[in-house]
Amino acid sequence: MEAILKSNKLLNVCYEIRGPVPERARQMEEDGHRIIKLNIGNLAPFGFDAPEEVVQDVIRNLPAAAGYVDSKGLFQARKAIMHYTQEKQIADVTVDDIYIGNGASELIVMAMQALLNNGDEVLVPMPDYPLWTAAVSLAGGKPRHYLCDEAQDWMPALDDIRAKITDRTRALVLINPNNPTGALYSDEMLRELIEIARTNKLIIFADEIYDKVLYDGRTHTSIASLADDILFVTFNGLSKNYRACGYRAGWMVVSGNKKIARDYIEGLNILSTMRLCANVPAQYAIQTALGGYQSINDLVRPGGRLARQRDIAHELITSIPGVSCVKPQAALYMFPKLDPKMYPVTDDQQLILELLQEEKVLLVQGTGFNWHQPDHFRLVFLPQGDDLQEAIGRVARFLDGWRKR
Ligand code: PLP
Repeated sequence: MEAILKSNKLLNVCYEIRGPVPERARQMEEDGHRIIKLNIGNLAPFGFDAPEEVVQDVIRNLPAAAGYVDSKGLFQARKAIMHYTQEKQIADVTVDDIYIGNGASELIVMAMQALLNNGDEVLVPMPDYPLWTAAVSLAGGKPRHYLCDEAQDWMPALDDIRAKITDRTRALVLINPNNPTGALYSDEMLRELIEIARTNKLIIFADEIYDKVLYDGRTHTSIASLADDILFVTFNGLSKNYRACGYRAGWMVVSGNKKIARDYIEGLNILSTMRLCANVPAQYAIQTALGGYQSINDLVRPGGRLARQRDIAHELITSIPGVSCVKPQAALYMFPKLDPKMYPVTDDQQLILELLQEEKVLLVQGTGFNWHQPDHFRLVFLPQGDDLQEAIGRVARFLDGWRKR
C-alpha cells in the first residue's frame, strides 16, 4: 500500500521542544531511568503551584462550565483582561477586542492564519519561541529571522530588522520578556521597534506571556501602550504568571489603529467562531487570577525561589570552562553559548541527545529555537536547588568528556 504522507503545509514546520530528543527521554523513562528535565517551561511539576484561589474558582464553577460560551470568551474574564490592559496603559481596549483561547498558542496560530497569504513575510526573532516560526509557515507565510544580539544582552538588532524588510513584510513579532534568552526590552528599544513598524506599515505581534516574571525589581512595559497609530496584537495568559500551563487559558488583545484592520479583525472573528470557544472551566479562573494579590511576586523578588534558582543556575553554568551566558532579567530560561573553539559542535541535536543518554539530563539545542549556529542550548531553571545543581554538574561533566574525546 502507498504510504500516507503528511500535508505539504507542514514541510517547514518544526517544534523541537517536543521533538525527537524528548521522545527518546520518554522512552528512557519507560525503561526506568530518571531524567532531570530542563527542557520545558512547565512550572507545576516542579512544585510551583497555581494560586489556590485560582484552582478553587475552577472547581467551584465546574458545574456551570459544561456549555459553550461566547467564541471570544466569558464576559467577566474578558472584562478582567480589559482592566489589566488599562493597568498596563494600553489605550482604548474594549471587551470586543479581547479573544480568549486554549493557551496563547492557539491564538498565535489563529492570528497568523487570519493574516497571511502565501509568501507573505513576518519578521520573527532569532532565537525565537519556535511556535512563532511554525505558525507563520503553517499559514503559508515566510518567517524572516532577525537577529537578537547576544553581545548587546540579546536586544533586537535594529539594522538587521530593517535589512530584512521587503514589500511582502506584513508584521514584526517580538517576544518580551524573551524566551529563550530571558531578555527584557527597554522603553527606548520598544520605541525604536515601533518606529520601524510605523515606517514600514507593519503590525506588531507582542508575545508578553512572561510579563510578571521579572527579576531584580524590573518592570515591564507593554509595547502597545506606547503608540496608537499602528495595529498591535498582544498575547498573554495564565500559563506562566499563574503557573497554570495545563489549564490552557490564554488571550490576545487587539489595540492601536483598529480602524485600518477591520477586515483582519473579521478574519480573527471567523476563526474564533469556527472553533466555537476555548476551554470554559479555566476561563472562570481569569478574573480571580488577574485581581488582587499577585503571588508570582514572592517567587521573583530577591531571595524568592525563582530568583534564587536563576542565580544558582547562572553561576553554575558560567563556571563551566568555555560556557558563557547573558544573565536573564526575566522569564524562566537561559540560553548559554558554547565557545566554538573549545566545543566545535556541528550538530547540536546530536550533542543534546548524547547528553541525555550519558547523563540523563534533557536540554533543548539552540537550533530548536531557530538559532543559526549549533553553539547554544536552552536551559530551564525550574528544578529545586539540589536537582538544578546536580543537573548542571552533569552537564559540566559531559562537556568535559566531550572536549577530551
Ligand atoms: N509564548 C511564549 C514565549 C512561550 O514561551 C509559551 C510557552 O512556553 C507560549 C507562548 C505558549 O503559552 P500557552 O501555554 O499560553 O499556550
